[in-house]
Amino acid sequence: AEIDRIDRELIRALAERMEAVRRIAAHKRDNPDVPLRNDEREREVFQVWSEQGRQHGLSPYFIGRILREVLNYSRRDQERVLVREDEPERAARSVRVGYQGAPGAYSDLAIEKLFTSRPQPVKSREGFHTFAAALDALESGEVQYVLLPIENTIAGSINDVYRLLAERRVHVVDEEVWAVEHVLAGLPGATLEDLEIVRSHPVALQQCQVFLGQLVGVTAESHFDTAGSAFSVAEAGDRRIAAICSEEAARRAGLEVLRREVADREHNITRFVLVGLEAERVDARVRARTSLLFTADHRRGALAACLQYFADQGINLCKLESRPLPETPWEYLFYVDLEGNVEDPRLAAALQKLAEHTNHLRVLGCYPDRSVEGGLPEEAAELEVAPAPVAPPPAQPKQGAKEPLVTNVRPDATERAASVVRVGTARIGAPDEFTLILGPCAVENRAQVMEAAEMARDAGAKLLRGGAFKPRSSPYSFQGLGWEGLALLAEAGRAYDLPIVTEVLRPEDVERVAQTADVLQVGARNMQNFALLTELGRVRRPVLLKRGMSATIGELLAAAEYVLAGGNQQVVLCERGIRTFETATRATLDVSAVPVLKARTHLPVIVDPSHAAGVRELVIPLALAAVAAGADGLIVEVHPNPDEALCDKDQALTADQLRELVRGAEAVVRTQGRTF
Ligand code: PEP
Ligand code: MN
Repeated sequence: AEIDRIDRELIRALAERMEAVRRIAAHKRDNPDVPLRNDEREREVFQVWSEQGRQHGLSPYFIGRILREVLNYSRRDQERVLVREDEPERAARSVRVGYQGAPGAYSDLAIEKLFTSRPQPVKSREGFHTFAAALDALESGEVQYVLLPIENTIAGSINDVYRLLAERRVHVVDEEVWAVEHVLAGLPGATLEDLEIVRSHPVALQQCQVFLGQLVGVTAESHFDTAGSAFSVAEAGDRRIAAICSEEAARRAGLEVLRREVADREHNITRFVLVGLEAERVDARVRARTSLLFTADHRRGALAACLQYFADQGINLCKLESRPLPETPWEYLFYVDLEGNVEDPRLAAALQKLAEHTNHLRVLGCYPDRSVEGGLPEEAAELEVAPAPVAPPPAQPKQGAKEPLVTNVRPDATERAASVVRVGTARIGAPDEFTLILGPCAVENRAQVMEAAEMARDAGAKLLRGGAFKPRSSPYSFQGLGWEGLALLAEAGRAYDLPIVTEVLRPEDVERVAQTADVLQVGARNMQNFALLTELGRVRRPVLLKRGMSATIGELLAAAEYVLAGGNQQVVLCERGIRTFETATRATLDVSAVPVLKARTHLPVIVDPSHAAGVRELVIPLALAAVAAGADGLIVEVHPNPDEALCDKDQALTADQLRELVRGAEAVVRTQGRTF
């Protein structure tokens, strides 16, 4: 009775303390300049606690542990107040949260823990059989968040989750860590001697190998989930079967703990990420992490250069993970976790630089760092010290305002190196190179595309062009052979060892076209198809973006920005003639666009003289003008029998004209110190 009375007092005192903490949180919310943590004050509190504890004969270690928990809870509660303030309507809504596994799984427990620090109340926690099924539920709106385990201190990274983060359109919005404490659980009354089978998730079995090895005659059996294995043991009702799971799961399944501390190592911590469909902002005062995903060129020093930008800005990397890219053997996707808020100008500056050296860059999310918890003030103080930037921080962008990735009409414009798009043996945009792209307007049949490919190869082309899906101004014109045409183009490309470029018309075709084509073309008529551009931002294939026939240079750059903002850094701009009052040519080639674009962006710029000219006689002079103006390459339509072409027949070059064009262009290119 006495202990019960004291416990009541303790709980009442803790509640009163939390009330005071919340009043302080409200003050911090209304005063953005007040820091969230005050290390000096925390150190004082620790001193007072240990001093008074000592006077009462309590161990400073014990007292320290309790205070640490109290402070953790207080801090998390304060963060909740801050988020709530940021987006009041979202905060009020209760949410369903998905996870992989059965009730009582570690993910389930971690959701409960995490949401004490998040603004939204949890309506329900929904278990799914697989990670993919949980993400499907997120995408369909069945759940609002999914918690996924991403790494474990014993088992390492959880590869399936990394792969899914790259594939799905999700954002990491929070994280949680959970100290895993496996127990061996069996039917009430079962003993270790009864056991023949121990069931659990393969990762859990792997973490308890030493213990399992000591159980002679027992086989390990894998199950989809730790908690699920506990329920399956209860259902089997067989004393010879036991599960490895959390104590919580054992309790829920009605099992008895046969043995605690069965893991090989004492520290067994799993880190989880909470993903949602929208990115969320983190208050600048909360210690945050940012996760990125990028690919680097396959050349010496490329990865080192990427990482150096973070070092230059004094940003600490927490994790670097490389995962294979199944579509391109021996190339890798890099995952990086950084200390810092994505809105921090130093991080923003590093990202801007990084974009230059990556082919694909995506910010997976920025979220509160919950990996280091309850640090004693000494540790905390060290962690809180912002690293000194090596270079002075650049001009501060407004919170949330995005620096454009494409244009660099900034004071430091000259700093930005020209980017090079590598396809096959081509280095489009390299200052010492000139790239020729040749092929028919449309793929018509196997013989035609094969002959055109031979013409292209013989003329020194580095890429083969050909339309399978044609955006025709009239619905009655030849619309292209579609997927069959793409397959024929790919066959010709393989036969003549040329990577292929083809136009994609619809957002829903992007992924499939990207499986076959090496470069995806956006036609003039689609330059402002923003859904298409957004989709192209997600693929890891270069994009050849043509200028719309009524688009300004600014609009072309804004269109490119869509692709880059989506993550895809490999964009080649293409001037192909614009609509003016002049009717003597199909369009008016805007030669001045070349030097203007070269000055305003780091992206490679090529020219399509064919669609500007409209007639083959004009193609050569326009092409030469483009080369002289500094274009990084040309894309030109050729055809084995132009008279029979199903599309753009008047502008297709014959083999003879093609030879003449190459001769002329090569001469100009040589005087510029470049090579074909
Ligand atoms: C083409 O390249 O065949 C084409 C249709 O070009 P544009 O989009 O520039 O008209
Ligand atoms: Mn054409």
